[in-house]
Amino acid sequence: MSSEPHLRADIVEVGRRMYARGYTASNDGNISVRLGPDRLLMTPKSVCKGFMTPEMMCITDLEGRKIQGDRDPSSEMLMHLEVYRQRPDAQAVVHAHPPIATGFAVAGIPLDRAVLAEVLTTLGSIPIAEYATPSTKELPAAVRKYIKAHDGMLLANHGALTIGGDLFGAYYKMETIEHFAKISLVARLLGRENLIAREEVDRLQGLRGSYGIKAPAPICADPAEALAVLDSGDPALCQVVQAPQGGGQRLVPEVTVPAGREDGREIRLTYRELSALIEEAVRSLR
Ligand SMILES: [Zn+2]
Repeated sequence: MSSEPHLRADIVEVGRRMYARGYTASNDGNISVRLGPDRLLMTPKSVCKGFMTPEMMCITDLEGRKIQGDRDPSSEMLMHLEVYRQRPDAQAVVHAHPPIATGFAVAGIPLDRAVLAEVLTTLGSIPIAEYATPSTKELPAAVRKYIKAHDGMLLANHGALTIGGDLFGAYYKMETIEHFAKISLVARLLGRENLIAREEVDRLQGLRGSYGIKAPAPICADPAEALAVLDSGDPALCQVVQAPQGGGQRLVPEVTVPAGREDGREIRLTYRELSALIEEAVRSLR
């Protein structure tokens, strides 16, 4: 584990990058890192993450009691504490409001479609934790449902949360989520997403080990069954990824229709179906 001065400097740097990339505005967002078995180093309440200094940080224990620091710890401290409780492997937690990913969180659209191979091997899928009032005990409860099986999630009508084996690992997952959201948005605006077939998703999952990626949970074998488990209120034990059967194809084309453009829906017919329609029309003319 890095020394305390290094970790303070790293939090400052991550905060600066988040602000520079527009993942936070004003005083949004918060960052924490484990300092020892029972110590956390955390960003303070009410500061812009782009203009922090190392001495601003707070040290708390795992119950949230302040041990050191002139300022009070982050208003989302309860969410951070919950993550460390549920995930002993987590060394760092990053929370921000990256605008495109947060747009998906506002629209209620999880980033769980099989479209990018690298996202499938690293994060798997990015679900949406239910809406909860920020800075209350509701937020840790909403996060609890997904945190054992995911290193990143959206927070409904709020933002995103990532965890990592170190501070930059957690931050890079935030970058991946926003980048993934941006690419998904563009593909959907273009009106087509070629989805990675289930068989290829399984193959990518098999590569996790050889890349040294420690995913917190496997990709669900049956997404419908896994979603039913979640609906019953139980926490996620696997990662729901929407991937169609490929039947030998590795990419399966899927046409999406942007809202308000339903009239422009592309209709695909086989030659036989088209011929039958023409014959039908000709018959009705006679
Ligand atoms: Zn927030």
